[in-house]
Amino acid sequence: MTQAKIIDGTLFSAGLRDTITERVHHIRETHHLVPGLAVVLVGEDPASQVYVRNKNKRAAECGMASFEHVLPADTPEAQVLTLIEGLNDDPDVHGILVQLPLPRHIDSQKVIEAIRPDKDVDGFHPWNVGKLASGGVGMIPCTPLGSLMMLKDHLGDLAGARAIVVGRSNIVGKPMAHLLLRESCTVTIAHSQTRDLAGEVARADIVVAAVGKAEMIRGAWIKPGATVIDVGINRIALPDGKTRLVGDVAFAEAVTVAGAITPVPGGVGPMTIACLLRNTLTACARLHRLDIPEAEGRFV
Ligand code: NDP
Repeated sequence: MTQAKIIDGTLFSAGLRDTITERVHHIRETHHLVPGLAVVLVGEDPASQVYVRNKNKRAAECGMASFEHVLPADTPEAQVLTLIEGLNDDPDVHGILVQLPLPRHIDSQKVIEAIRPDKDVDGFHPWNVGKLASGGVGMIPCTPLGSLMMLKDHLGDLAGARAIVVGRSNIVGKPMAHLLLRESCTVTIAHSQTRDLAGEVARADIVVAAVGKAEMIRGAWIKPGATVIDVGINRIALPDGKTRLVGDVAFAEAVTVAGAITPVPGGVGPMTIACLLRNTLTACARLHRLDIPEAEGRFV
């Protein structure tokens, strides 16, 4: 029985963070600038609190300044927008991230659109969405960016490969498909209305799963030798009452068929945070016209 190569996102992201740390120190010493990331959290969602804590911790480890703004769940929308306005104008802040989801009384899209596009390190502002779709230089959403980095590291040139992205969300599926198209893959985007998902997956050399359904993509669907990027993070209950994180791909099956696969946890997740730091560095470099590779449109 064959065994896929495990694409280790923990290792890859550590290398990426090392490079970012070097660049941050270089910027601090030569330009007397400290790249700064502001993270806004509204409410007490425990998962969001963990994400925000990790983002700030990683930013500080890389030598960046991190600014945490934690607001109560009943904060009026107008107050969140005023905070964003202040961060837009703050010269110490180069990247702004608003942790999603926001409480229901706040219009997320309005908040996203209030962020200055050049500080939008999540890449969700319509300006950045448009840049990605039209092949321009903008800010690329972190999870798709991290996924692409791992794909390119493993496969090199992706041109001509058949790729399927399962999921069409604005934060993962759609930007991932645009990135793969930009790499000259032949891209299929699957979603909940797709007929014969198994047949579509079976044709793909590259499978990116971003569905949010535990182990939905079965090993038997996967083309032998394909590269599988599992974006999904699902917590499942075990018979002993404990819980475990699993992806959208049935890993134990897929690992015997695929050529390479990302695990969950330890695959895409750590790359997402590393790419957030990279986007913050990019934002700082572009804002101050610094001559470092991250300032360009290049991403690997
Ligand atoms: P969404 O819920 O926004 O989107 C899910 C997508 O999956 C939708 O486009 C939906 O289709 C599609 N879908 C649902 N059911 C099926 C089905 N049976 N067959 C085919 N497609 C289906 O999720 P996100 O994109 O936000 O996240 C996806 C997963 O990735 C989640 O598990 C999330 O936790 C994880 N994630 C992980 C990150 C990381 O850092 N590793 C970061 C972000 C997300 P339709 O549009 O038709 O409804």
